[in-house]
Amino acid sequence: MKVIKFGGTSVATSESLKKVFSIIENEKDNSIIVVSALGGITDILQDFINSKGNGSVDYLKQIEERHLEVIHGLSKIENQSPLLSFLKQQLNELETILEAVSTIDEITKKTISKVLSFGEILSSKIIFEILKERGNDISYIDSREVIFTKYHNNNEIVDEEKTGIAISNNLNLIEEKIIIMPGFIVTDSNNEISNLGRGGSDYTASIMANYTNSSCLEIWTDVSGVFSANPKIVKNSKPIVSLSYKEAMELSFFGAKVIYFPTLQPLIEKNIPAYIKNTFDQNAIGTCIANNGKPNEENTVKGISHIENISLINFEGSGMVGVPGFSKRFFGALSEKGVNVIMITQASSEFSICIAVKESDAKNAKSLIDKEFEYEISQNKINECYIENSLSNIAIVGDNMKSKKGVSGKLFSTLGNNNINIRAIAQGASERNISIIIDEKDNTKALNSLHEAFFENNCKNVHLFITGVGNVGSNLIKQISDQKKSLEENLGLKLKVMGLSNSKKMILSETEINLNDWKSKLNSSDISSDNNKFLDFSIAQNLRNSLFIDNTANSDITINYSNYLKNGIGIVTCNKIACSDKLEKYLELKSLSRIHNAPFLYETNVGAALPIINTLNNLINSGDRITKIEAVLSGTLNYIFNNFSKENSFYEVVKKAVELGYTEPDPKIDLCGVDVSRKILILARESGKEIEFSDVLNKSFLPNESVKTKSKEEFLESLKNNNDHFNKILDKALKNKSRLKYVASLIDGKASVGLKEISEDHPFYNLEGSDNITVFHTDRYKDSPLVVKGAGAGGEFTASGVFADIIKASKK
Ligand code: ADP
Ligand code: ASP
Ligand code: MG
Repeated sequence: MKVIKFGGTSVATSESLKKVFSIIENEKDNSIIVVSALGGITDILQDFINSKGNGSVDYLKQIEERHLEVIHGLSKIENQSPLLSFLKQQLNELETILEAVSTIDEITKKTISKVLSFGEILSSKIIFEILKERGNDISYIDSREVIFTKYHNNNEIVDEEKTGIAISNNLNLIEEKIIIMPGFIVTDSNNEISNLGRGGSDYTASIMANYTNSSCLEIWTDVSGVFSANPKIVKNSKPIVSLSYKEAMELSFFGAKVIYFPTLQPLIEKNIPAYIKNTFDQNAIGTCIANNGKPNEENTVKGISHIENISLINFEGSGMVGVPGFSKRFFGALSEKGVNVIMITQASSEFSICIAVKESDAKNAKSLIDKEFEYEISQNKINECYIENSLSNIAIVGDNMKSKKGVSGKLFSTLGNNNINIRAIAQGASERNISIIIDEKDNTKALNSLHEAFFENNCKNVHLFITGVGNVGSNLIKQISDQKKSLEENLGLKLKVMGLSNSKKMILSETEINLNDWKSKLNSSDISSDNNKFLDFSIAQNLRNSLFIDNTANSDITINYSNYLKNGIGIVTCNKIACSDKLEKYLELKSLSRIHNAPFLYETNVGAALPIINTLNNLINSGDRITKIEAVLSGTLNYIFNNFSKENSFYEVVKKAVELGYTEPDPKIDLCGVDVSRKILILARESGKEIEFSDVLNKSFLPNESVKTKSKEEFLESLKNNNDHFNKILDKALKNKSRLKYVASLIDGKASVGLKEISEDHPFYNLEGSDNITVFHTDRYKDSPLVVKGAGAGGEFTASGVFADIIKASKK
């Protein structure tokens, strides 16, 4: 004998019922088949109750249509009439109740139970009749005649004695045939129709399995077992092959709706295994729940479950310290009125107690507690309790968690890294579960990042919001696109671009943007670019591991940096403006990055992809002290002075550099030393010097006329006009057997930039093309300085530096 339960998801439509019939008709054992209401019908009845009877015509219509679809789809026309008249008769009865409810605008507990019972009564009878019509030897038992509840501790609980007797009285019938029976509905202590709670058909089935000593219970639903997390929210979740009863109980208690949690107790008593199977994928293995669920070789944590719409009730005051019986009164007050407490935390100081309850119970719980402690509150010994709403409870569950160190560490660091605030924590004494309460808005992010951390070995999704798709940005996108597969395979990193913006248009996407045709998509997008909207979108998505990538040189973009960091979104940027802005701003961003655990990386601010800032950080972090930095930091200026000769006028060389994309969009920024000043300023700050841009000594080599120009064109024109000025500088250097290099230095904490004549014996003399060089003199590198040298400009190099920072940020 076995018990087989089909949930509402399986008996939702005529199509899904065909699958159910194939399972029943292939079954060899004698079986009790428990069926729920057609999927969603109990919700419709519940909605009707919540609306206090309004709109009854609509509700009735929906219920009628759903059942007609099943009857018309599965029963031969000549056999339909008894079913249709049964449906009509039930609907009439329901209509009478609904009309009465809307007239008196009041609904009693008894009526609620009555209304909710229609779903199961209709489905079980219709399914029974259709199975009979198909030639099955089959009987019907009404669960109201075999399952009874009694009043106990302010609740209706299963009356084991009465139920036992009723089932044994029906045993002859039960053991001989296939039996169909409704789930959920029962008879209560007042002999009225009642139910086992929402989702209670699972429980009906396990009660039947217990009293009939069945060999197993099969629960057929719309998913292939109990998943490592709710599959509707965590797309990467997987079915758990084996669970112990206790693990299953914890997961279901904390929200894994696939099993109604009281279901397990009757099974545990008789050691009956349960199998969760998928009606729509009958060959899938599913989940086996048994006495000793097999430990999972790879994971200590078996599953993550969650409950939404949770409230925290905080109760505190010095008056509760050391007072015996306090907790008894507290919980007594709640249980007397049947308020279910989901989680409890009490600080060891006993100064406060905090409980989690369903949001719908919160107000009631508060008034019960405040009433119980009315006297202490009036004496100011205890404060009135206060409620926090819109929270979510997340539990990680596994029998072997207690023997494994680091589980809670991983839980907290994963959430911390994603800027998710934990409101309360509780660990069961069995250490089989750790529960936390978080803000409901962080739910999806928390579940996915925890799932990634505990189940998806070496796999991490990183969400990118990229602004700026010019020379650097488009190279970056190409590199990401080219490397995507290899990053997934080798580093387990999945980079997903979710937002893309240039100065005109943007794409904001809820799913990953396909990078193959990003250009045409961006150009044809009908959303105009807007930095604030871009920010708002990335915050609203609230995705784990989010990074904002700034590939522009635009100061407007940096305005929102602090807002990104405050929302836990990391920043990777080649834009130097933020780090060379006011010292206060630079320090604020660094601090926000630390506080909110959001990376802020800008290696490409100095020397494109060359590891200059990283090297400097490593020196300092390892306890070294910088005594002097000398550097050629402008690939642009290096290119210009390397190519400037008697044959190639200064103007011609600059113009070529602009054309090759070697300069900032405005070449004056490079030539008047602003760009290099910013770079040495950043290096000075990274070495711990608290200096401003105005502290950088900058002696310009440009003639006054060029300095004063207002546009790029005017500037280039002025270079042409001042040919002699530049030739003079060149002649002097040649005469001194030197080359011209634009050098930045930091000596004794003083930063300066300027054009210098470099003689043959200097390491800068042979610096080619657009290369950069940085020479670090430190306490450790006293005799022979540490040199970083290489290509320091160009879109492709800079993009690769940004890319490297993205990978670094992703690994945090
Ligand atoms: P039925 O109508 O068959 O009783 P339910 O809707 O009650 O089905 O339960 C199945 C649903 O439970 C799934 O569709 C899924 O959305 C939800 N669910 C929540 N958590 C889990 C989990 N950890 N594993 C599987 N399903 C889960
Ligand atoms: N039909 C009931 C409900 O929706 C019982 C069940 O599906 O298990 O809650
Ligand atoms: Mg269910």
